[in-house]
Order: sequence, then structure tokens, then C-alpha cells
Amino acid sequence: MSAGPALSRRDVLRGATRPAPFLPRPPGVTAASLAACTGCGACVQACPQAVLALTPRGVALRPEAGECVFCGDCAAACPEPVFAADRRMAHVMRISADCFAHAGISCMSCRDACPEQAIAMQPRIGAPFLPRIDAAACTGCAACSASCPAGAILAVAREAEDA
Ligand code: SF4
Ligand code: SF4
Ligand code: SF4
Repeated sequence: MSAGPALSRRDVLRGATRPAPFLPRPPGVTAASLAACTGCGACVQACPQAVLALTPRGVALRPEAGECVFCGDCAAACPEPVFAADRRMAHVMRISADCFAHAGISCMSCRDACPEQAIAMQPRIGAPFLPRIDAAACTGCAACSASCPAGAILAVAREAEDA
């Protein structure tokens, strides 16, 4: 798993800080709209899937906790202009080198969990099939991440402006 861009020695000497890691958010929440989050917790309480949490940077989605079913209960509960009507997630999922297939262990849990059939298993000769996520088909629901026994599936920004 990548820990983000490395800092140069010059940056360290200047006291630069490492950029904050990407924060996956519930549907309809953009990097800009998150500024309106007061941390009241109404969305976290409303989520029937218990996949939301409050962080010092506002509400976040917990991909390891379960699947977002795009019910809209979080948006309905929020008293602030944090959630847009467009329920698109600002992230997609990415499979890291921690996937069991890289260690020679066969696994298809993510493929089986995906409601969009966005994960294909790439055949390899003499090694377990490798899962591949079609980013265009991925909704960011995180069903795959929650089902992965290796904790290998992470959220990444869909576009640079979503980061
Ligand atoms: S859309 Fe529904 S399941 Fe998804 S985070 Fe919001 S309340 Fe939870
Ligand atoms: S996050 Fe994307 S790849 Fe994973 S289960 Fe949902 S739609 Fe499928
Ligand atoms: S569920 Fe995790 S370990 Fe299993 S194939 Fe998918 S990414 Fe690899």
C-alpha cells in the first residue's frame, strides 16, 4: 500500500508536512462541500449500514465496514449543505499488492461481492487469477473492500479535484 508522495530532504528541513491521506466520503459529498460539515453526526446515526464515521476532517465512509447501498438516508438527515443531489461517490476502489493472489493464494471474495460486476479475474498461467476493477463501472460502494480478507482494497479519488 502506498503511503502517499514522499517528502524530499529539503521539504523535511523546511518543516513541510505530509499531505493528508485521501478520505473516502459518502455519496454526494465532495472535497469542497465537506467544508460545510459541522460534525453533528446526524448522517452517521442515520446510516442503516453503519459505514460512516466522524473524523477531524468531517464525515467519512469506512470502506472496511460494509457496503453503502446508496439509500440517501445520510443526505436526508444532514441539516447542512454537505450532500449534493448527485449521489455519485468521489472515489473508486483500487486493489493493492496486499491481494492474496500476489502471495499465490486463490481468492475471489471481491469479485463475488461486487453488485456491479465491476471486478474481473484475470487468468494467469501457474498462478492464481488476479482481480481487476473496472473503474468506469465501480460505484465506490465498498462491498469488495469489506469482503476482502486481506484488507487489500482501498479508496482512491475518482478525479484529481475529488482528492
Ligand atoms: S447512502 Fe445510505 S448506506 Fe450509504 S452512507 Fe448514506 S446512509 Fe449509509
Ligand atoms: S466498490 Fe466498485 S468494485 Fe467494489 S464492490 Fe462496489 S462497485 Fe464493485
Ligand atoms: S478479496 Fe482481496 S485478497 Fe481476495 S482476490 Fe479480492 S483483493 Fe485479492
